[in-house]
Amino acid sequence: MATDRTGALLVGSIWYTEGENVELFEKIADMQAYLAEAKARGERIGFVPTMGFLHKGHLALIRCAREDDEVDRVVVSIFVNPLQFGPREDYRDYPRDLERDKELCLSGGTDALFVPAVEEMYPEGFATHVEVTGVTDILCGRSRPGHFRGVATVVAKLFNIVQPDSAYFGIKDAQQVVVIRRMVADLNFPVKVKVHPTVREEDGLAVSSRNVYLGPEERQAATVLYRSLKLAGEAIARGERDAARLKQFIEETITAEPLARLDYAEVVSWPDLKPIESLQPGEVLLAVAAYFGRARLIDNLLVEVKA
Ligand code: AMP
Repeated sequence: MATDRTGALLVGSIWYTEGENVELFEKIADMQAYLAEAKARGERIGFVPTMGFLHKGHLALIRCAREDDEVDRVVVSIFVNPLQFGPREDYRDYPRDLERDKELCLSGGTDALFVPAVEEMYPEGFATHVEVTGVTDILCGRSRPGHFRGVATVVAKLFNIVQPDSAYFGIKDAQQVVVIRRMVADLNFPVKVKVHPTVREEDGLAVSSRNVYLGPEERQAATVLYRSLKLAGEAIARGERDAARLKQFIEETITAEPLARLDYAEVVSWPDLKPIESLQPGEVLLAVAAYFGRARLIDNLLVEVKA
């Protein structure tokens, strides 16, 4: 990782200056004791849950928390959550680099880092899950059965442990945002869910921890995801209102790329993720997932449909 003479770190094209200190907690009780002290002083907590192997998308969320007038202390969690991976998915291979993540958190303005072990989060006898229904039936919920049950369960646990005032999520995982918002409303979590736009590489590829799986040719091919979404967005701007035609157009654009293996392309209502036939004024979500080699990548675009 590049540093200049002042110790600032280069992440993508952005320099981050080192902060003072970041406290690291592995035990739930220690994390809670630290937070209890901060809260007793009236401090408000901003929370960024991640699976680590941090990149400039995560750092944008951390910076958003740091700069939020409603936040005094920023807590980041790093936990590769086994519950949200299917049996044939990449849980074991998921990239991990805690030393690098610690440096990035420090430079990004994090006060405390929560890095629990799997046994700390799911001790023997663990038997409770959170299941959000309806909005999990489609898109990644259909391709990855049990994924959002794992996500909702871990986020509910993390919210209970950290008890943040504000929590930050990327719209890159648009369906995840919908699921978390539903859970927060349904289970009365006193947390403000705040959403950050997708951070992209210069050629449009959404930044993702899984991009490290891509070989050079796959990396180049993966730009087709955002390209297909942008072209569909432009068709909507020109007046296209037929959801099936848009879906077919996105599918054809992606399948024309020989290194892409399409998982899904969908055009759904926002924010309730319902199938639609004809686009109505308001917002519509274009969502895609495809494999490039062993990397399963997702992307999406929220498009404003004019009357
Ligand atoms: P992950 O570590 O992949 O679980 O992501 C942790 C958080 O960072 C989630 O809220 C993601 O939506 C968000 N995130 C991941 N990639 C990006 C990106 N490229 N731009 C903005 N947010 C992102």
